Order: sequence, then structure tokens, then C-alpha cells
Amino acid sequence: MSMLKSLMNTARRRSPWLFHANAGSCNGCDIELVTCLTPRYDVEQLGIRLEASPRHADIIVVSGPVTRTTCEALETVYGQVPNPKVVVALGSCPATCNVFAGSPTVVGPLDRILPVDVYVPGCPPRPDAIIAGIAEAAAILAGDKPRPVHNSSQTSGEGGR
Ligand code: SF4
Repeated sequence: MSMLKSLMNTARRRSPWLFHANAGSCNGCDIELVTCLTPRYDVEQLGIRLEASPRHADIIVVSGPVTRTTCEALETVYGQVPNPKVVVALGSCPATCNVFAGSPTVVGPLDRILPVDVYVPGCPPRPDAIIAGIAEAAAILAGDKPRPVHNSSQTSGEGGR
């Protein structure tokens, strides 16, 4: 491994930047994610920060069951995050659609749309579970943990399916 690649992996592991995509969430998971930034959990001291632009992010954190109106935007955002990237499903909604399963406005769960690397279960998950999920995502980014196998029907990462 070249020195530059090693340096980039260290930076990703030590300071992953997150882009949060709300794909139809009730906002419960979103509030818990924001709680991670408050002084009680203070994830920024660990180098983890929320980034407003997907183009500068390493990790996409998706909340919500993926609705018809958010699906296309989600794929666009996925294409805008530079490779390598990791997708985190935040809460039970992106994993299973949860209480929104069966709704005609829902096209999820998320793994029908994007390749999900890390699941953080809960409705909503607690901040410590979210931080553990982000740490797992950072380990995948840095190459310290293998990426799960994804099916080929998910988006290619180049901006569309
Ligand atoms: S998992 Fe629960 S808290 Fe999170 S978006 Fe779904 S319903 Fe809301």
C-alpha cells in the first residue's frame, strides 16, 4: 500500500464525514443523529462531522423507509459521494420499512435502492448505537473491516441504477 493511500485511509478512519439523507423518516432517527453532535456525546471530538454537501462526504447515513418522492434524490446523492463510500441504514425504517411497510408511497427498504453496508437497528436507535455504527462504517472505509456482499440490482454508485 502506498504511503498516500495509507494516509488517506487513516484520515477516513479518524475523521469520517457524514451526509445525512432523510428518505421519508418521521424525524425520530434524525433527532437521535443530531443528539450525537450535542455536548453529551460530542462526536466531533472524534473527528466525525455532519457535512452539508454529499460531494465532501465519506459516509451516507439514510433514515426513513425510502418514499417514492425521495428515491430519485437518494440515488443522485449516492452518485455524488466520492468513492470509496459507505452506506449506513439508520433505524428500522431503512432496514425493513418498519411501520410504513405496505404503504403505496414507500419503495424501500433501502437495500432495494442502495448497497447498505451497515445497519443500526432501533426505532429510533440510541446515540451510542449510532456512534458504534459510524465506527463500523469508518472501519469499512479504512479497509479494516470487509464490506458486505451486495446484490447487483442496486445502484452502481455512478449516479443511477
Ligand atoms: S425507525 Fe422509528 S424513529 Fe426512525 S424514522 Fe422509522 S419510525 Fe421514525
